[in-house]
Amino acid sequence: TVLAAQHGWPVPVWTQKWQSDANYEKLSTFLLENHAWLVPAFGSHNVRSIAHAMAVAEQLGVPPRRYEFQMLYGMADPIKDAIRSLGHRVRVYTPYGELLPGMAYLVRRLLENTSNDSFLRQGFSEGVSEELLLRNPEVVGEQRRKRQTMAVITNNAPQAHGRPSVGFRNEPLADFAREENRRAMSDALQFIRPELGKTYPVVIDNQPVQSPAALDSLNPSHSSQVVGRVGRATPELANQAVASCLRAFDGWRDTPIEERAAFLRRVAEVFRRRHWELSAWIVTETGKQWRESDADVAEAIDFCEYYATEAEKLWHPQHRDVPGEENAYFYEPRGVAVVIAPWNFPLAILTGMTAAALVTGNTVVMKPAEQSAVIGAKLMEVLIEAGLPTGVLNFLPGVGEEIGPVLTQHPDVALIAFTGSLKVALLINEQAAKTPGGQNFVKKVIAEMGGKNAVIVDSDADLDEAVRGVADSAFGYQGQKCSAGSRAIVLEGIYDQFLNRLIEATKSLAVKPAEDPGCAVGPVIDAESRDRILKAIETGKAEARLAYQTDVGPLVNEGYYVGPTVFAEVPETATIAQEEIFGPVLSVIKAKDLDDALRIANGTKYALTGGVYSRSPDNLDKVKRRFRVGNLYVNRKCTGALVDRQPFGGFKLSGIGSKAGGPDYLLQFVLPRTVTENTMRRGFAPEVSEGE
Ligand code: NAD
Repeated sequence: TVLAAQHGWPVPVWTQKWQSDANYEKLSTFLLENHAWLVPAFGSHNVRSIAHAMAVAEQLGVPPRRYEFQMLYGMADPIKDAIRSLGHRVRVYTPYGELLPGMAYLVRRLLENTSNDSFLRQGFSEGVSEELLLRNPEVVGEQRRKRQTMAVITNNAPQAHGRPSVGFRNEPLADFAREENRRAMSDALQFIRPELGKTYPVVIDNQPVQSPAALDSLNPSHSSQVVGRVGRATPELANQAVASCLRAFDGWRDTPIEERAAFLRRVAEVFRRRHWELSAWIVTETGKQWRESDADVAEAIDFCEYYATEAEKLWHPQHRDVPGEENAYFYEPRGVAVVIAPWNFPLAILTGMTAAALVTGNTVVMKPAEQSAVIGAKLMEVLIEAGLPTGVLNFLPGVGEEIGPVLTQHPDVALIAFTGSLKVALLINEQAAKTPGGQNFVKKVIAEMGGKNAVIVDSDADLDEAVRGVADSAFGYQGQKCSAGSRAIVLEGIYDQFLNRLIEATKSLAVKPAEDPGCAVGPVIDAESRDRILKAIETGKAEARLAYQTDVGPLVNEGYYVGPTVFAEVPETATIAQEEIFGPVLSVIKAKDLDDALRIANGTKYALTGGVYSRSPDNLDKVKRRFRVGNLYVNRKCTGALVDRQPFGGFKLSGIGSKAGGPDYLLQFVLPRTVTENTMRRGFAPEVSEGE
């Protein structure tokens, strides 16, 4: 019930007792109708359910030896006697075996029997009348429904004048436990197959533009498969794209905020409509599992909806008026923005930075990462489908090193929104800091960079949870998330136990191509990444003990696969404990106590995400105060931030921007202005109230 509420899914179980009771009767009938093939056994202490089964059996003429009743030893003996005296078979059962595991069972029984809805409690200790106890559950349901309708009508009455709440809601993730979702995803993967290998050009002024060369984007799961050929923009085209943005800027800046917000909402609508197809492209181009690809699209939708709403709020001027003087404080866009994105959240991050820049009135040169340029082209299609005005955004795929410097040093570029590696971020920051002649402003750089995130496992942690959470954080999307937990810092007392269980959990992760729904760990993004990760593993072997590595078998020739790898007894200063590897490699580090763990956890140049597993409220308090990261997760995995709920981003060398999907994010894309007007005219005299 809680998980369904968190995900925005319908609750998958009955939430009211009468519903379970009614369903019990439905199933009793079904079983008895099939007595020719099976022997139904009715386990219940509810006299109504028992009587219902008996009556149906009688009606259907089921012989008494073709079904039985089962009841617990020592409970509700008068009911057992009554059933026997009516000539039915009763099987009495009792749990036996080890006491400790059995405790869980007994506690469940206690909860059940003492619940307000329990038949036994109502019948035996509360003396509820037979008439009420034996009511048909459907009748109870009908009465409840009537009462609820009345309550809704009465409760709503006083609120009728209030403003309806228009709170932001995260786009629900697909529940792949449902067959229709599984089918939709495999259909989409089939649907895009004939589209593989198509060409996607640079787009300037909403028109395709030929570039002298193209880049092949390959499927990391099957590296011989070309996903698409994408235009390779030249410096000349980069200049044209900026010029187009500059021409479109004044018009877009002066477009009412309602229209710009409406544009983002239309983009979100197109995303919803093309959701499965886009997820399938993400699986195919970036080797992301189904679930993660679906989440990528959902996050892109969230960014559009959230920034649309935030921009509308921001665009209400603040007034500070005094007699004879009006003051307005408001925002305007900065100018031409360049958006440079990574491949690891190929749709979400590219959309997020772009949506923020556009809705605040900037015009945008959008540069996707080379490895996910087809998704970038798909986003361009979506933007055009949603009614993108000419020149407001230009699509400039290409090689970062070739066109990046042209864009970041261009005198007409006012803002650079970058997400990617530390190295490139620092380079861009340096380049942008130089002010070329003809540039009449200082460039603004928003940069989100990497991390070397740690999860602290306290000595009293729930190991079932901690092992799963650490494995998810480290190996989800092959460790290629900036938020991935690449260090587990484990307290001495449980170190060995944790490590053994973690290794077993890691063994159970199936390495498969990403389009396979059973894929727990897929390929890494490209050959360069694979080689870099393998090199880091070699370094690790010299620095620490290789505790486990999954052999990827024949997949090694199929795509860019690296098996999940666990290093143990890793010194806190080792390269593999300090540098971002961006692959499925986890360093397990031993700490003497919680203070030591915190010191190690904070001891890198990054401060992006972190996690802690503990059951001690004091320790959790301490970690919340002292583990200084942008996003800290307590007793859960350290990846998977949601827009609005967990605004995302770090500090130190993890980020110089503020948090994506959070309330301050848009402020970086705007300039504040103040207008003061003297409204005093000749003969004007302010009204003076009594007593002044
Ligand atoms: P990257 O830095 O190699 O590339 C990012 C983008 O920069 C690409 O579009 C690339 O073409 C472009 N680029 C490369 N050289 C450039 C240059 N000289 N000038 C301008 N642009 C240039 O990063 P990546 O491999 O795509 O992504 C992985 C990195 O991104 C990891 O370090 C990860 O931690 C980080 N990341 C951070 C966040 C966050 O929110 N903090 C989110 C996702 C990824």
